[in-house]
Amino acid sequence: MSAILGAIAGNAFSHVRDSLDSLGAAPPQVLLLEGGTEAQRLDAALYWACRANCPDAERDGSPCLDCPTCRQTAAWENLDVAAYDGRISNTQDQAEPGPIRALNIDNVRELKSTLKDPPHARFRVTLLMGIENNRSGAANALLKVLEEPSKGNLFVLLCPQRQQLLPTLVSRSLCLTLPWPDPEAVTPELLELQAEIAHFLETGRDFFNKTGSKGFDQEQAFVAVMAVHKGLIRILAGTAGNSPLDQTLARLSPAGLMQLGRWIGEANQALQAMVTPARVTEAFLANVYVLLHDGQQQAAVPGKRARS
Ligand SMILES: [Zn+2]
Repeated sequence: MSAILGAIAGNAFSHVRDSLDSLGAAPPQVLLLEGGTEAQRLDAALYWACRANCPDAERDGSPCLDCPTCRQTAAWENLDVAAYDGRISNTQDQAEPGPIRALNIDNVRELKSTLKDPPHARFRVTLLMGIENNRSGAANALLKVLEEPSKGNLFVLLCPQRQQLLPTLVSRSLCLTLPWPDPEAVTPELLELQAEIAHFLETGRDFFNKTGSKGFDQEQAFVAVMAVHKGLIRILAGTAGNSPLDQTLARLSPAGLMQLGRWIGEANQALQAMVTPARVTEAFLANVYVLLHDGQQQAAVPGKRARS
């Protein structure tokens, strides 16, 4: 296995690569990739694009990941690969247009005209992400494209869970599920996030810059709530460490810890019910902040949260 597309290089992903290899013999027009992390879904989509166009894949059934086509694909330099993300703002798109573009009317119009031309190689592969709860005109225009047979064009939808997409969209896709992230894994990103949450819980500051940014989505909200949940589990299990988050949460009384457990459950429920991720995360952390700093009173902010 080559070093490119490292997020899905491990053994845990061999069945994903095998599935993509065999699907490549008669590629579905719309492939839906769910599960895994964002990076893993992206690399799986790029692997699919390699499978579609690598000259070796026609003969061997799997892409070589070493030829110019595969390398350009993995580096986002392949003219037959395009990607759109509903979470990228128009301002961001104009200021620093990367390989992944915003899902706006202008970009979709440009894509629709490109789709009419034949691809440079066998297939043009278009990746679509950040389309959960996206009801914009641009998203609708793009979804219409998926309904029509389109020779030489393959589409990949990327999302954490298929339930987050419109049922009509799921029904016309072939769904492939990546291994779900290991809830016990402690990554550098998770450690950093825990430190940021601890800082907020001590000072009441800074974390809302993160939740207020356009990219803060349901997946990140789940991870933030999970970070606190893991801290709670460590405290209850008597295995709390020296991390700032553990130290902070350890100040809660037994009743406070129980209250925290209930809020974690409520926050997860609200996220599953598609309440705005930033709002859920902010209300959750604000509750915990109040509980820590005003421990004598029950937290002032009620559990009920507005739906938007
Ligand atoms: Zn190749």
